[in-house]
Amino acid sequence: MLYVSTRGGGPAVTFSAALLAGLAPDGGLYVPARWPQLSVSDFDGCTSLAEVAGALIAPFAAGDPLADELADMTAEACAIPAPLVPVGRGAGYSVLELFHGPTAAFKDFGAQFLAACMTRLRPAGARPLEILVATSGDTGGAVAAAFHGRAGIRVGVLFPQGLVSPLQQQQLTCWGDNVQAFAVRGSFDDCQRLVKAAFVDPQLRQRFDRSSANSINLGRLLPQAAYHAATALAVWREQGVKPSFVIPSGNLGNALACIWARHVGLPIGDIVLAHNANRAVADYLDGKPWQPRRSIATLASAMDVGDPSNMERLQALFPALPDLQAAVTAQVVDDGAIRQRISADYAAYGAIWCPHTATAAEVMARMPAARKARGPWIIVATAHPAKFSEIVAPLIGRAVPVPESLARLYQRPSASRPLEPRLEALRAALIDGDPAPGNTP
Ligand SMILES: *Cc1c(COP(=O)(O)O)cnc(C)c1O
Repeated sequence: MLYVSTRGGGPAVTFSAALLAGLAPDGGLYVPARWPQLSVSDFDGCTSLAEVAGALIAPFAAGDPLADELADMTAEACAIPAPLVPVGRGAGYSVLELFHGPTAAFKDFGAQFLAACMTRLRPAGARPLEILVATSGDTGGAVAAAFHGRAGIRVGVLFPQGLVSPLQQQQLTCWGDNVQAFAVRGSFDDCQRLVKAAFVDPQLRQRFDRSSANSINLGRLLPQAAYHAATALAVWREQGVKPSFVIPSGNLGNALACIWARHVGLPIGDIVLAHNANRAVADYLDGKPWQPRRSIATLASAMDVGDPSNMERLQALFPALPDLQAAVTAQVVDDGAIRQRISADYAAYGAIWCPHTATAAEVMARMPAARKARGPWIIVATAHPAKFSEIVAPLIGRAVPVPESLARLYQRPSASRPLEPRLEALRAALIDGDPAPGNTP
């Protein structure tokens, strides 16, 4: 299987090459040159998430050096449970909980798989691989957790100082060892700019191999397709019907993965994108011109994306707007509705949603009965509510129970290194590179 850029430039590359590069050289995103076609019977005998992931990803990795190791890699990355849980009586839908990983959000799945791949792609005796991530919240923590302790790989996490929540900061700065956290005196955009500049810097290139682990990486998308696939197969086998999904969406990585799973033949019905007040995608699906915009800050902050990069992959799959409109629909949920939904569903069902998951719950609450009856419907819970307890607890009038994985992480000592938003500063920090914790926060 080869991969090509959504912008059509550059040569077709292997699975491994697409994974290591992240972005195509022409700035586009990698997509399969040809789509595999699978049927439900291709998954006969696959019941666990790891087995489904292995069967689903196999054609995507066909012919690649990593293909032989796929079973081990999926076993490693899919050890995180992804249970489908009924919501209280009368709700009429279930929730796919993707928050049982080390940083309690769905990004753990993709980060773990990418780490499993990259570790195996390092030739023995290779120079250190430096992975840089700019993060405004969840991604950096998941990547740091996944790569922590892996030999031959260092991770640099750049976050805007003072602009992430204290809990988010703890998840970025609690690792030590081969993970360095940089508190950049600037904005998220400064962090991103620094990562891009470091990527093409000749002095750094001399010292390290570099890679990115950002959310457009193919290695993060495929395991996300796998949990949608495994869930859909379980429902199909049990009830003989295709489940439909409502997916809280920002950069569209999670939703695109579900769309890819359906595209290659998994039994998935409707796919509905639940957006916060960042409405670029919803407006486009309504027939307005494509209009990327600045992101606006909302309670569902991990979805504050005004110009989702995976839109390019969606348009590559459905170049004609009517086809795209037939493939997905979208709804916008503002902060007021998020708040109300968190309170209302706790009162009605005892369900506790994070603000992101609440956008999907709100889409369900608004859904006309006739459409709902064509279910079964599943909402995707993208993060544990305890990660957002400062928002959630006052709305439900009680503390949010903290899962053990998060509690452990909150107890680790934290350290970060302040960084001026200039390439020279980052270069010096990486080269002098004392990866041990203990620098002043
Ligand atoms: C990243 C994230 C999202 C948005 O996912 P996309 O793949 O960017 O659409 C939603 N919820 C949470 C908790 C996230 O961390």
